[in-house]
Amino acid sequence: MQFADRLQNVETSAIRELFKLLGKPGIISFAGGFPDSALFDVEGIRAASQQALTDEPGAALQYGATEGYQPLREQIAAFMAGKGVTGLAPEQLIVTTGSQQALDLLGKTLISPGDKVIVEGPTFLATIQCFRLYGAELVSAPIDGQGVDTDALERLIVEHKPKFVYLIPTFGNPSGATLALERRRKVLELAVRHQVVVVEDDPYGDLYFGEAPPPSLLALSASVAGSRELLVHCGSLSKVLSPGLRVGWMIAPPELLAKATMCKQFSDAHTSTFAQATAAQYLKAGRMPATLDRVRAVYAERAQAMGDALRRDLGDAVQFVQPQGGLFVWARLTGAGGKATDGRALATRAIEQGVAFVPGTPFFCANPDHATLRLSFATVDSDKIREGVARLARAL
Ligand code: PMP
Repeated sequence: MQFADRLQNVETSAIRELFKLLGKPGIISFAGGFPDSALFDVEGIRAASQQALTDEPGAALQYGATEGYQPLREQIAAFMAGKGVTGLAPEQLIVTTGSQQALDLLGKTLISPGDKVIVEGPTFLATIQCFRLYGAELVSAPIDGQGVDTDALERLIVEHKPKFVYLIPTFGNPSGATLALERRRKVLELAVRHQVVVVEDDPYGDLYFGEAPPPSLLALSASVAGSRELLVHCGSLSKVLSPGLRVGWMIAPPELLAKATMCKQFSDAHTSTFAQATAAQYLKAGRMPATLDRVRAVYAERAQAMGDALRRDLGDAVQFVQPQGGLFVWARLTGAGGKATDGRALATRAIEQGVAFVPGTPFFCANPDHATLRLSFATVDSDKIREGVARLARAL
């Protein structure tokens, strides 16, 4: 069959290939990016969906506005206000089918073939693939434990004149890194100085284990004149409530929001009204704070178990920063003691030992660091985490 030229820019996901091997019985998987389904607030969601059918069955089951179900837009604006984003009108956001759709809409509305887009190295794999599908040439900005290196970012902006910069500033996927407060201000200043759009993808910001992370770029934009007009913020209920609901949102300047809404109309008309009405009822019922407390506590314990086990069993053969939130440990093989330094080879040996993880290579759009690994602690209990890390040590 003759496919569209744009498909030539995209390979099938290396992760998807790896997932085929996960069916092996008894395997302990650190490979997924899923939240733990055992943590879903099933009762709360059941009650919310029933309430949606009781209060407004017509609206919940009918076609709806492309921008989103108005009561949900109001609830999301209130949720964001609770996170320091003040003065956000419901009309300044649209509901998207997961934040993945927001990324796709950004591709559709902003990227012409050959346009440059700066992303972090490493970044979310589906973003790399989605932007490439629209013909973007991706430029990789280096990161460290404090998030993107803003000096390097400025040099890249000057050199490449990108259409926009895409960042996951808080508990990045896969890096787990969080952009330091001063660097957040610097990013907003760079946006204004160079008049470049910055996209903040923030599905993990609520999943912190101790202290809350610094305010989002969106919250901070109020204090950097001219930055709000250049900022796009993508949020999602996937990691905190349920990815199956497919409820996310995009906050963007009016002109961009209007174009994105037009594109969304052609792609899915609107996000499921039933899912939106359920999410609206859930937020309205005030259940979110308790849910967040519960999931944060479980992930915090698992992150600690994984960090402790890695330090104990792998010692100086790996380097990593203990995660303060999110779902991932991002580790680097050091080669100490003559041990392996290629995450891809180790992934294959690890499966033979009954443990899976994702090598870091595919998360880089350029110059991959093959010594990196992404380990998710989200769906495995602490005892299994310790066993999985022991198997990883054997594979190494
Ligand atoms: N952005 C990032 C950084 C992610 O890790 C994910 C999910 N893995 C998404 C966006 C998409 O999430 P969803 O569409 O479920 O909101």
